[in-house]
Amino acid sequence: MTEEIRKLKEIIDGSDNIVFFGGAGVSTESGIPDFRSVDGLYRQQWSDPPETILSHTYYERYPEKFFAFYRAKLLCPDAKPNAAHRKLAEWERAGKLKAVITQNIDGLHQVAGSKEVLELHGSTLRNYCERCGKFYGVEAIAHSAGVPTCSCGGRIKPDVVLYEEGLNEDTLYKAVRYIAEADVLIIAGTSLAVYPAAGLVNYYRGHKLVVINKTPLGDKTRADLVITGAVGETLVQV
Ligand code: NAD
Repeated sequence: MTEEIRKLKEIIDGSDNIVFFGGAGVSTESGIPDFRSVDGLYRQQWSDPPETILSHTYYERYPEKFFAFYRAKLLCPDAKPNAAHRKLAEWERAGKLKAVITQNIDGLHQVAGSKEVLELHGSTLRNYCERCGKFYGVEAIAHSAGVPTCSCGGRIKPDVVLYEEGLNEDTLYKAVRYIAEADVLIIAGTSLAVYPAAGLVNYYRGHKLVVINKTPLGDKTRADLVITGAVGETLVQV
């Protein structure tokens, strides 16, 4: 066990008010590519940059191209929770972890058994007709071609927050409260580049801020403990 893991274990063992703030890096060990790693989606070649394709304007103007990208790159129906998802669910069951705040849209924390999951950017598993509001599961998008359409003729929109769209206010409020009241805050698998989500970590007031990331976050946080590595491989040792 390294010195960092020993320190992390001590912090975790001594707390029953842990909050986890994660991003796409939490699911790379489940085989889902993130955006900004070397093999992430932003380094792959597309007709338009992924940030553009995943914007509200693009969705409205070019829905066919939006859904082609969305189906190919954001839906991962075969992905399974990894060691990080499972460990967080275990800590919650043990009464140690209060909430998982995630920027991910893959639903894997819930599959692993986590209950209090705040999905800042929504979920690919929920989809709604823009005209009548009817709910659809992920299959409605995955198994359709072109622009997915409701039985009423309306377009089905994934319940994910696109660039230019606002975050759900209740979710934001709860996330701020959990972070502000946390004893331990773990930030993992995120570049802290997507706002306003990334700014939420600034509400933390404690002195046990842990960062677990493959690439260093530099001065984006004032971490008390930095572990440079994979989050699943790290948490499984605690
Ligand atoms: P990002 O791609 O900007 O950054 C990911 C970070 O995680 C990088 O710093 C990378 O070094 C690190 N990382 C990668 N694998 C890791 C691992 N196994 N352990 C520890 N660190 C690891 O991701 P972001 O900050 O979450 O922002 C991207 C946006 O894209 C988010 O809004 C997110 O919703 C969305 N997104 C979600 C998914 C998903 O739901 N799984 C996948 C791709 C992108």
